[in-house]
Amino acid sequence: MTGAEFARGARIAVLTAQPLGRPFDYHAPEGGCSTGEFVEVPLGPRKVLGVVWGAGAGDVDAGRLRAVIRVLDAAPMRDEMRLFLERAADYTLTPLPAMLRLATRAPGLGDPPSMRRLYRRGAGGPDRMTSARARVLEVLESYGGLAFTLGELAEQAGVSPSVVKGLIPSGAVLEEDAPRDQPYPRLDPARGGVSLAEDQARAAARLRAGVAGGSYGTTLLKGVTGSGKTEVYLEAVAECLSGGRQALVLLPEIALTAEFLTRVERRFGARPAEWHSGMTMAERRRLWRMVGRGGAQLVVGARSALFLPFRDLGLIVVDEEHDSSYKQEEGVLYNARDMAVLRASLASAQVVLASATPSLESWANAEAGKYTRLDLTSRFGEAGLPEMRAIDMRSETLPASHWISPTLEAAMRARLAAGQQALLFLNRRGYAPVTVCRACGHQIGCAHCDARMVEHRFLKRLVCHQCGETRPMPEACPSCHVEGKLAAVGPGVERLAEETAERFPDARVAVLSSDLFATARALKAQIDAIAAGEADIIIGTQLVAKGHNFPLLTLVGVIDADLGLQGSDLRAAERTFQLMRQVAGRAGRGAQKGLALLQTFQPEHPVIRAILTGDEEGFWRAEAAERRAAGVPPYGRMAGIVISAPEAKAAFDLGTMLARNDGPLRRIGAQVFGPAPAPIARVRGRHRVRLLIKAEKGAPLQVAISDWLAPVKLPAQLRLAVDIDPQSFL
Ligand code: ADP
Ligand code: ZN
Repeated sequence: MTGAEFARGARIAVLTAQPLGRPFDYHAPEGGCSTGEFVEVPLGPRKVLGVVWGAGAGDVDAGRLRAVIRVLDAAPMRDEMRLFLERAADYTLTPLPAMLRLATRAPGLGDPPSMRRLYRRGAGGPDRMTSARARVLEVLESYGGLAFTLGELAEQAGVSPSVVKGLIPSGAVLEEDAPRDQPYPRLDPARGGVSLAEDQARAAARLRAGVAGGSYGTTLLKGVTGSGKTEVYLEAVAECLSGGRQALVLLPEIALTAEFLTRVERRFGARPAEWHSGMTMAERRRLWRMVGRGGAQLVVGARSALFLPFRDLGLIVVDEEHDSSYKQEEGVLYNARDMAVLRASLASAQVVLASATPSLESWANAEAGKYTRLDLTSRFGEAGLPEMRAIDMRSETLPASHWISPTLEAAMRARLAAGQQALLFLNRRGYAPVTVCRACGHQIGCAHCDARMVEHRFLKRLVCHQCGETRPMPEACPSCHVEGKLAAVGPGVERLAEETAERFPDARVAVLSSDLFATARALKAQIDAIAAGEADIIIGTQLVAKGHNFPLLTLVGVIDADLGLQGSDLRAAERTFQLMRQVAGRAGRGAQKGLALLQTFQPEHPVIRAILTGDEEGFWRAEAAERRAAGVPPYGRMAGIVISAPEAKAAFDLGTMLARNDGPLRRIGAQVFGPAPAPIARVRGRHRVRLLIKAEKGAPLQVAISDWLAPVKLPAQLRLAVDIDPQSFL
């Protein structure tokens, strides 16, 4: 290799994904190597993947250094990506190897590209023409020079493989070996999209200008559901692709991907590359490699797509940016929305944060002028925003174990009579949240967690929503062993479906809950069926709050609008506000005016009132004032520490020790609260203790926390996780 930065034998630092904390020194291999190259290195008895991180640190004797085994055939990691991983590691207080693992989550990255045999049209004519041969040539010619595998070609032409082979000697068909990891079909950004409404066109022009400028910037694109945000940001994608750069669209739900892919295909003439947990290993590898070589222009994916090795990333769209699923709550704790902004700033890329109900963080960043804000104020077409009303549950009479109030029932009947759809929203999966024994009062709990088991009648099992443990519904109470006394308490969507069927025996009822569908495809089929009018009443969890378009839906009934207001979560008000508005936004997306009815026991609650009046800016301002006064995010900083251990005492002892020795935190004016048992004090048999750290906005929190935790030697059984900017306090 010519022009290698490090000659053979030079001392280099190699970062691996092994939990060693930092890069290690090696000798450069024969032929040398350069910073960013993927290499294979010996580690103990093993060979592992690594990245050349730069010159060696020189902290190991040259005599003890081992040599890099080989440089891999993969696009080298770009400087921008290395910087991104380092910054993300510093921000989230994650060891660098764990960040590298996120960036190399595809198998066989360094394997030589595997080949497959392909067949295409050659210049020659066949020595003898038959109708079967003619069909083969016709297929090859009608696809404009595309190459096929033998199986594909034979099937398309309706001939046996031997017919194809028989065309090779004359040169009519060419046989060649091509790499299995093919580039993705080209997207055509010049294909026209829909003609945009005036405010859409204005927003699109601003986004296009930002992308064309080629530098970093973040825009909050706010618009009610159905206002055409997707159409607008696809214009930014088009600009990015025309400029030869790559774009990434992050979506919160795999379920939404299918619908989105179809839209991309309509707009750009081909489907984009997808990245999510449901892909095969071969697909992962292909995408990872193609993204690095520029063979994928647009990637649509889940949060981890942020760690793909884009060759030239020009735009990141974070759709539904407020969605809490952007926060990864296991392993490396990071917020994909925030990391998207970091990555874009290092890549000189633009970020578009799209939402009908932005997070207070993004709202505040726009207020402070850090983000540009663009508003789409009207819904596309004639549909207006739904009217919202409260149903005061204190003055409704309901039989026991029923949840649909007479007022809601009447509204549903009226809509159904008019041939329209109604949606009942209840954010609780399963049949009933609690199963109680009427003989002894025992509530069935999970053996490993401090959580009640939730009855899922569809599965005929009890399920722990904390750890996923399931067991058959018992006949007898596990505590007093009396049979036949177990009773369901409270509603889940399955139980609500039962009540609905009882009250509306002629209606077709569809339940949309994530656990009822084995695959994203099955869920998509159900959603399509509903959109096509194959259901009268839809019952759904928060799965329905997002993005789906049901043109016949004109009424939304929220069974328990108070559900999210309970609890001490700092974002309880914000989340309820967002969720209720998203759900209500499902109604009246077609030509009919929508109505949303919220069943509540506290219609005067400020959050419920803000939802009803639709005074969004008022709500955000009031919420911002409260957070500012309390010094909490986004006007102050927080970090959570979760310590877990098989024995509660060990976790508490460490927590107490940390709280006492808080010097490094006090020096930056930060405060420590706790240790306290976590609200869910036991998960998977481990006891959990929390500490909470609060600091002023500008305080160097990460550095202080590192200093504070540096002396801690964790005993084998204990685990400690640091959660910067926690979203969940459980
Ligand atoms: P949002 O992303 O804000 O929820 P969408 O972009 O999904 O909104 O638009 C809602 C619906 O309106 C979609 O079916 C979309 O195709 C359609 N739509 C939006 N803008 C236009 C337009 N300018 N012309 C035609 N259809 C549009
Ligand atoms: Zn459990």
